[in-house]
Amino acid sequence: MHISPMIIIKSPREVEQLKRSNAIVAEVFEKLKGMIAPGVTTQELDQAAEEYILLKGARPAFKGYRGFPATLCISINEEVVHGIPGQRQLKQGDIVSLDVGVNFVGYFGDAAITFPVGEVDSEAKRLLDVTEKALTIGIEKAKRGNRLFDISYAIQRWVESHGFSVVRDFVGHGIGKDLHEEPQIPNFGAPHQGPRLEKGMVFALEPMVNEGTHEVKVLSDGWTVVTADGKRSAHFEHTVAITEDGAEILSVL
Ligand code: MG
Repeated sequence: MHISPMIIIKSPREVEQLKRSNAIVAEVFEKLKGMIAPGVTTQELDQAAEEYILLKGARPAFKGYRGFPATLCISINEEVVHGIPGQRQLKQGDIVSLDVGVNFVGYFGDAAITFPVGEVDSEAKRLLDVTEKALTIGIEKAKRGNRLFDISYAIQRWVESHGFSVVRDFVGHGIGKDLHEEPQIPNFGAPHQGPRLEKGMVFALEPMVNEGTHEVKVLSDGWTVVTADGKRSAHFEHTVAITEDGAEILSVL
């Protein structure tokens, strides 16, 4: 392991460890996606995720992180990220973002998906499609020789060309033995800037895309981030490792 200014380069063995923790994250999503339906409470989703993670001998990464009280961040409609699970039931037509973090033998996994609850309106579908594709586009730019903000620029350009906005106040991040490592990875920025990408860098890429303004605020619970204009927001995230010839998505089965 060496430091490339502040970005930790992972050995192939460490990338394998990260693949194991991220596979658990992907398995949690397999379990949760069958539960997404009108009437289910966010606490039921949280409990199912926690039970599965513990069963696998891993630990929920978010629970206790700076005092966060739950395993999942669950953010509905105008909630952007960091929503706290509770008694709220999902409703037909909602969109719900689930963010899963896992620590398995010292290495972290992190991913997020926004799901439609039952049938959603066409604008919600478009928001989910554009956000998921923004992540794919970011991953395509995550390759050796590119610079970090090539990822940021490509995501911003794609999102804004569809009339949506990218959140500025929260960003992607390096990940490894810490949940949040250098570098910060904004979903906006100028191309050809930032550190050169190298094999062994591992990033959590996570576009957060708003229907309206990019501005957000934090609710009085101290955690839940919502859009400033009350319009909806979507969030897709994968943990990826830079390889010889591109990026490998680690948070998949
Ligand atoms: Mg993350």
